Amino acid sequence: MLQCRYQGGNEMKKLYSLGLSLLLGFGLTACAGNPQTQSPASSQQPEAETKEETTTTVVVGAGGAGMMTAIELQNNGQEVILLEKQAMPGGATLLAATYFVAVNTEMQKEAGMGLSIEDYVAKQVASNPDFNADQLQRLLENSQDSIDWLNERGANLTRPMSNYQIGIEDGSSLGVMLVKILNAECEKAGVDLRTETQVTEILMDQDKAVGVKAKGPEGEMIIHADHVVLATGGYAANQDLVKEYASQWAGTPFTTAVGSTGDGHQLAKAAGANLTNMDVVRMNPAVYTDENGSSYSLSVARAEGGILVNLKGERFCNDYYPDYTQLSRWMIEQEGDYTYIVFDQKSVDTSSRLADFKDRGFFLEGQTLEELADQMGVPAENLTATVEKYRGYFDQGKDEEFGRTNNMNTRIDQAPYYAVKVKPGIQVTLGGIQVNDALQVMNTEGQPIEGLYALGECADDGLFGGAPTNIDITFGRLLAQHLINQ
Ligand SMILES: Cc1cc2nc3c(=O)[nH]c(=O)nc-3n(C[C@H](O)[C@H](O)[C@H](O)COP(=O)(O)OP(=O)(O)OC[C@H]3O[C@@H](n4cnc5c(N)ncnc54)[C@H](O)[C@@H]3O)c2cc1C
Repeated sequence: MLQCRYQGGNEMKKLYSLGLSLLLGFGLTACAGNPQTQSPASSQQPEAETKEETTTTVVVGAGGAGMMTAIELQNNGQEVILLEKQAMPGGATLLAATYFVAVNTEMQKEAGMGLSIEDYVAKQVASNPDFNADQLQRLLENSQDSIDWLNERGANLTRPMSNYQIGIEDGSSLGVMLVKILNAECEKAGVDLRTETQVTEILMDQDKAVGVKAKGPEGEMIIHADHVVLATGGYAANQDLVKEYASQWAGTPFTTAVGSTGDGHQLAKAAGANLTNMDVVRMNPAVYTDENGSSYSLSVARAEGGILVNLKGERFCNDYYPDYTQLSRWMIEQEGDYTYIVFDQKSVDTSSRLADFKDRGFFLEGQTLEELADQMGVPAENLTATVEKYRGYFDQGKDEEFGRTNNMNTRIDQAPYYAVKVKPGIQVTLGGIQVNDALQVMNTEGQPIEGLYALGECADDGLFGGAPTNIDITFGRLLAQHLINQ
């Protein structure tokens, strides 16, 4: 078997396996205060000569989008170099919690959760007229192939959770599974993946991108390439950019990877790219912060049927409202600094991730709702009445109060009962480097920049983060095929 050429050899592999086993073992989803590794730009490097080399495509960023693009290129015989600034690949993809967005797949149809792609697209466009309907249609039409590709490699992405969500059979972490498979496929294909290598500049020849400058463990390098693909993720971990572009949320915690510092946005801007919708971010309405100050996404507790309850012990909105940023606004309007997700043993039994969080001591617990209310410090009669009312909606299949329709996966009647304290934090940045439907980067005059492409969270592809990991896999495959056919 060909080996993935890590720039740190065996040490790197050990570190990577350690990272993965930590995530697998402890169910860690996101850790704002827990740096993955130090950026090479900030470490002292001995002076060395700049190395120059040439390839066909250089991909910047080894998260889901970058790895998938590189694998497809390499497997189709195209020379590719994949550069990653952190010590291990994965990026924010490693943190993806629960569901892969796909519509009208075979398994959804079999489970009676069929919805035509056209209807889903129309719904998205109705909710946001800036949505790129053609691009969404293309994504969804190619999703079944992506799911099949992943399942052939052991993903177990076989559990329809709703008419637009597919989860892993045992409810385990989506991101860990994706990165495990993509990393193995990079190795199998022999992708030249260089970690601890930060791209610092896009080389331009007039209006055309012709390569990159980067800094790695052995010093500076210049890589000449026909195509430069930016797959550098979002910018939520860069407070300066948050202040500049999304000041409303400045100072809130983030649940993304520490490498999500908007490098690609800044590199592309310096190369003449247009940045669009930079103010649009997705909040995570379910951030739990432990006593060490590390933050975790507890979205899975809502996805498995939990309800949101304020400090009066009452629901206050559709707890599975699809616009998480609006949901976060409703949460912030409640009295007090946080709210609770309340759920029961059925949710914990369905999800190994929730069971991991339980083992880590994140939850308050009670054998009765009264006992739980006591732990939460909310009026017991209110919490009991709230859950009783919700059970009625569950039985009718209709939430008359707030109109929740999705993920009503438990009646909340199986003791013990649980509550976890959450508040909103920035999870994903949704605008970014403007691209056209071929994922070519657009300049400020509305023209594509030759040789320069962007995909994944760093790109504004008109989908507003509607299906992040599906975009990584599906657009990674499609972009690679486009580059091969050039
Ligand atoms: C807590 C959480 C839960 C989520 N849950 C879900 C979910 O349930 N379903 C879903 O579909 N999505 C989910 N997402 C979103 C999804 O994980 C990401 O948006 C998506 O995977 C981003 O993929 P990417 O490849 O574009 O970026 P990333 O995976 O972030 O990869 C970008 C890579 O580029 C590297 N990089 C950056 N700058 C440079 C540079 N200058 N040089 C070299 N390398 C660089 C970074 O270190 C990183 O490894 C979640 C995100 C978070 C944070």
